[in-house]
Amino acid sequence: MGLFPYEPRESQPELMELIRDTVSSGRHAIIESGTGSGKTVCSITAIAEAMEGERKKMLYLTRTNSQQAQVIREAAAIGRIRAVAIQGRANMCPLMESVPEFQSGTSEELAKLCRDYKKEGKCPYFSKTAELGEEKIREIFLDAPFSAEQLRAKAVSEGLCPYEVAKILMKDAELVTAPYIFFFNPAIRRALLDWMGVPISDIILVVDEAHNLPDYCREIESAELSINSLNLSKKEIAEFGDPEIMDGLTISDLVDLLIRIIKQLNDEYVKEDDSFIPPGAVMEFLMEETNRTSAVLRRAFEKTLEFGEAIREKKRLEKRLPRSYIHSLGAFMLFWEGIDATEYVKLIVGGEENGEERNSRLEAACLDPSLASSIINECSASIHISGTLAPLHEYRDSVGLPEDTVMARFPSPFPEENLKILAVDDVTTKYDEWNRDRTMADRIAGHIERISMAAQRNTGVFFPSYGIMTRVMGRIKNENEEIRIISDERGIGQKELQKRIDDFRRGGSGARLFTTVMGGRVSEGIDFPASEMEVAIIVGIPYPKPTAKQQALMRYYDIKFNKGWEYTVKAPAIRKVQQAIGRLIRRETDSGVAVILDKRAGALKEGINFEWTERPEEEVKRFFSD
Ligand code: SF4
Repeated sequence: MGLFPYEPRESQPELMELIRDTVSSGRHAIIESGTGSGKTVCSITAIAEAMEGERKKMLYLTRTNSQQAQVIREAAAIGRIRAVAIQGRANMCPLMESVPEFQSGTSEELAKLCRDYKKEGKCPYFSKTAELGEEKIREIFLDAPFSAEQLRAKAVSEGLCPYEVAKILMKDAELVTAPYIFFFNPAIRRALLDWMGVPISDIILVVDEAHNLPDYCREIESAELSINSLNLSKKEIAEFGDPEIMDGLTISDLVDLLIRIIKQLNDEYVKEDDSFIPPGAVMEFLMEETNRTSAVLRRAFEKTLEFGEAIREKKRLEKRLPRSYIHSLGAFMLFWEGIDATEYVKLIVGGEENGEERNSRLEAACLDPSLASSIINECSASIHISGTLAPLHEYRDSVGLPEDTVMARFPSPFPEENLKILAVDDVTTKYDEWNRDRTMADRIAGHIERISMAAQRNTGVFFPSYGIMTRVMGRIKNENEEIRIISDERGIGQKELQKRIDDFRRGGSGARLFTTVMGGRVSEGIDFPASEMEVAIIVGIPYPKPTAKQQALMRYYDIKFNKGWEYTVKAPAIRKVQQAIGRLIRRETDSGVAVILDKRAGALKEGINFEWTERPEEEVKRFFSD
């Protein structure tokens, strides 16, 4: 009898066997397995069974707090598994939550503050934790695995530090669940492995919602320097002084020169969003303006970094967030100057956004996620799992997993007839047609109105961008105000967004629309079970905008894998559409219809099974009346 706590359904035994075999043979597996397939409980069960009798540990990485809570719930259901959840100090530390400035602190900044509190005996939570001792703490937290929120609440009620408690519990835990950063940031990873008491070669890694990993890794390996951050450096100069960093040149001179060159590059190169710049452009400008060599400038950047470090120290001693924009400036310039051109592209980002000037910046954009993710190969085994991962070989190549990686797709466990997907071929958001054909937005709006009136249910409308959303929704006639429209907006706060979603979820009689974008917070992270959403309208195909960064990425993938368009344009678009449609069916009893409004839908056939139709409203009506 295995550890699985429920009556196994359809493909679950097969999924668990695949994971068990992968882990036992020390390999890696990429698995696409949809909502409702029980991928969390299957992964934990199978890994725990494969680990039995060994000193290995499971590290389960998640993107969101709710996924982390789910891991703990399943570990509790399985029983016999000691599991611990940890999050960053910003979420766990009771001292830091009362200081708003600390909420934006990086893990490094908060670790420094924490170290001081502890050293100076100024943290009562730490003192009590140390006083009580590890054994007593283990007794207090013996009853069940706790989610990070539960652990925090219990620890604080006992006067203990939740972060320190998690560290103590990890030593004996077989399963630790943490956000991605705990593994992909090298410094935090080293600390985590130390607390877990195992080398990386004894880690069995699970990457949940793995489709996010390539972008996440590219992001953490990239760096930028913006006009805003240079202006914040000036504020620091006003407070902390303006030392010389080379003969006759101070930090504020360097800041002014950089603001000048960023503006100049922006004016010269940027037409829309961003542009390539000659790799040596910034350094050549600085050399010319200062009449110094690159070696002298490099020393100046180092001095800038050192001065920034002194500011961080000073702030730390004053119990302020130990952050310095001057430090970031020095670090950025040293990084920028030393970049290896093949995996990076140097960009100037600027132009306008929503009629307002963008915060122009230099960006060293990483094109190769494996710079951060190839460390996975040092683990004992790894399981990468998500509801939307196809094409799986793209993920394998991007992340840098070996050729013999196991790849498998498990079908949705829900009855096929519960979801109908349709597409129409008389509209598109394809760039040139959208711009040329003045009737396009009206025709798309017409489809949306007719479909929602036919459905008379909660309908999500997913757009490729906020710009297209505004234009199309402006054409909705809704003459008799029969359709209730609730909209997501660019940049609205989490609370306001939640309020609007709750309003939409409450439903009520008649047609209701919730409009949002694909690839955003709603389409990738919020569930709408049962009648909360029964129709999804996909407006256009969410191909990435052909920015300079996107073009560089495509070229990089062309050179490396000979699959630029397939990997960097088509695959992300398919995943975004799948994610949006996935909002409809979250449980076995859910049913719904999705309609793709774009003649290019044929390109999605590889990942999405749909039927063409000329009258989607009639099909929608029929679906709900059958
Ligand atoms: Fe916060 Fe714990 Fe550090 Fe104290 S020891 S400052 S409670 S994280």
